[in-house]
Amino acid sequence: MSTENTSTPDSTDGPGDAPESLDVIAVGAHPDDVEIGCGGTLARLVQQGYDVGIVDLTDGEPTPGSPSPEVRLAEAAEAARILGVHRLVLPFPNRRLFDGFEVRVELAKVFRRFRPRIVIGLGGPTPMASPDHAEAARIIDAAVFYSRLTRWDDTFDELPPHTIEQQAWYSLAFASLEAPTDPARFVMDISETLELKLQSIRAYKTQFPPEKDRVFRLVEGRAALHGAIAGFQAGELLTGARPLGVQDLVKSLCLPPS
Ligand SMILES: [Zn+2]
Repeated sequence: MSTENTSTPDSTDGPGDAPESLDVIAVGAHPDDVEIGCGGTLARLVQQGYDVGIVDLTDGEPTPGSPSPEVRLAEAAEAARILGVHRLVLPFPNRRLFDGFEVRVELAKVFRRFRPRIVIGLGGPTPMASPDHAEAARIIDAAVFYSRLTRWDDTFDELPPHTIEQQAWYSLAFASLEAPTDPARFVMDISETLELKLQSIRAYKTQFPPEKDRVFRLVEGRAALHGAIAGFQAGELLTGARPLGVQDLVKSLCLPPS
């Protein structure tokens, strides 16, 4: 399949031209995965001054609600604009996304080019929903590893190795009551950005018509639950690859007075 455009974010899909580098890249199987999983976190990062990008492994098409891939891509561009992030859609096939060497390499090329400090990936399978999600989880994890491998530059268009400092995951397993079991679990405060997150999901008009309003109740309910547990108005539960290190116990455990 063509991978011609895989290393250049469409400048119409994000703020300004293609960035030199990105602090954080979040990856999903389909446009809307990242918004639903961690859109509030990304918007908050942007507010805090970080450069953030979304990579979708497929364009998510076809779907029952969308008349054409162009419409879905326009929705994805609008969602990125709302969050203030750059966006890149890779040309792998929706519904037939499988972990494999080519897709791992193409995603690792994106990491090598934009050199993120953190990659936020889709975590784990989603029973009763698209199997692309579980494949994407494996692809992202492998690409994070491929990004740092030396003596293999010819495989990555001579892009030099890049070591990603930390990997985190968001979950789309809305059908599960079980919390993820990765080494670290933490709640990102999205009190200031929940509304932007919801707007970015609503940008996918073809995917979330009024009869799918349940999705918004789930997203808002989870944000309220996770936020309340951590002491915020709204939160997103993310996980990390290793336990979080603490240097100042008071600052780390006690929220500043609001
Ligand atoms: Zn999806």
